Amino acid sequence: KEKNANEPEFLQAVEEVLNSLRPVIDANEDKYRREALLERICEPERQFKFRVPWVDDKGQVQVNTGYRVQFNSAIGPYKGGLRLHPSVNIGIIKFLGFEQIFKNSLTGLPIGGGKGGSDFDPKGKSDREVMAFCQSFMTELCKYIGADTDVPAGDIGTGAREIGYMFGQYKRIRRLYEGVLTGKGLTYGGSLARTEATGYGLLYLTQELMKDHGESMEGKTVVVSGAGNVAIYAIQKAHQMGAKVVTCSDSTGWIYDPEGIDVDLLKEVKEVKRARLTEYAAARPSAEYHEGRGVWQIKCDIALPCATQNELLIDDAKQLVANGCKAVCEGANMPTTIDATEYLQENGVWFVGGKAANAGGVATSALEMSQNSERLSWTFEEVDAKLQTIMVNIYRNISDAAKRYGFEGNYVVGANIAGFEKVAEAMEAQGVC
Ligand code: NDP
Repeated sequence: KEKNANEPEFLQAVEEVLNSLRPVIDANEDKYRREALLERICEPERQFKFRVPWVDDKGQVQVNTGYRVQFNSAIGPYKGGLRLHPSVNIGIIKFLGFEQIFKNSLTGLPIGGGKGGSDFDPKGKSDREVMAFCQSFMTELCKYIGADTDVPAGDIGTGAREIGYMFGQYKRIRRLYEGVLTGKGLTYGGSLARTEATGYGLLYLTQELMKDHGESMEGKTVVVSGAGNVAIYAIQKAHQMGAKVVTCSDSTGWIYDPEGIDVDLLKEVKEVKRARLTEYAAARPSAEYHEGRGVWQIKCDIALPCATQNELLIDDAKQLVANGCKAVCEGANMPTTIDATEYLQENGVWFVGGKAANAGGVATSALEMSQNSERLSWTFEEVDAKLQTIMVNIYRNISDAAKRYGFEGNYVVGANIAGFEKVAEAMEAQGVC
């Protein structure tokens, strides 16, 4: 703790994961102590911090700080996104990298854990400024990454535009055309179904959860928050499965549409026009628009938070339980607060956290890596079928892991255990390194 005293987010993440691993740690105490396994897993294998100078549109030199933490390569090349946001510091990158190890392990694919980024803020910058930053960032980063070493992806602030500029610079300096980044455009090595992957994956896992409890998606009422990438494709897949999604939200308001959200209209409003949800309501007579937040008060069988962190609070959890909600699966990262999670679990709601439920995104990024290695592009159907198998397996693994340690039905503990076991076993097999 003293060693990482200036990294509160990292300390919090480590504490949370280790607490939930208590039964595994107790069962293997001597071995783990002898091998210093926990100490090793909490220490990044390597971390880089570097200067990123670039010239703005006024001709002024700006200087940002770049980071890449290569946390754990026991089961595959480091993999994790690049976050571009003014709040980025080494503690945040380490916290995200640490969590990434277990999420990546859960996918069952050979990807280790890493994370990177910079305190650069792409908001309000011109395309030329963003390109100047990305080229400078990659000029340094390209020394440490590669298709078989470390494969970064997008994250907050790093979308298709930034990935494109970074890929171009990597190719130019390293003279290698390889899958060094994921989230690429379809014309230069991106994967079909990546856009849909997180939302679709969330529903494949939710469907398996319902099946395991003797239920189906058919005829279920679903409440979704958010109206971005994850939410849109979660709604689309839920409808394909015969459920009815009656809500969505953005950062200013929310929609209740008892006829079921019209996905085509929602895509038009959000993806094409980039407008507010008031436009959805204006075009859809069955929809009600409300300012502020409130989707969790709508009666439902299944709730899928797909917007942002800390958006499902204790009072929302109480409302969901009172309304007879059976399952909550997280599409977003950390949308449910800890007390809300505990309340849901204590009241018999089947709760699957984001580490497992939204892993379809990173899993499909790993499928992009496979396609790049083969120099082939799979069809949408091929990628989608693989995604479905991966999500079903994730559910089975987390459910089994929870059962094995006497925590049947606790999918949060199950996810941490299942993710950890594979990495720990690989680390043991590879000796002290
Ligand atoms: P987007 O930016 O596409 O969409 C986020 C949506 O949530 C937007 O509609 C946004 O509204 C809305 N939102 C933001 N803040 C609030 C709020 N306080 N209350 C209600 N709605 C809000 O992001 P994604 O869909 O890609 O990501 C959503 C979540 O899923 C994030 O936590 C992300 O980390 C996580 N995730 C995403 C993956 C992916 O592949 N995209 C993979 C794994 C996790 P507005 O339009 O007003 O900004």
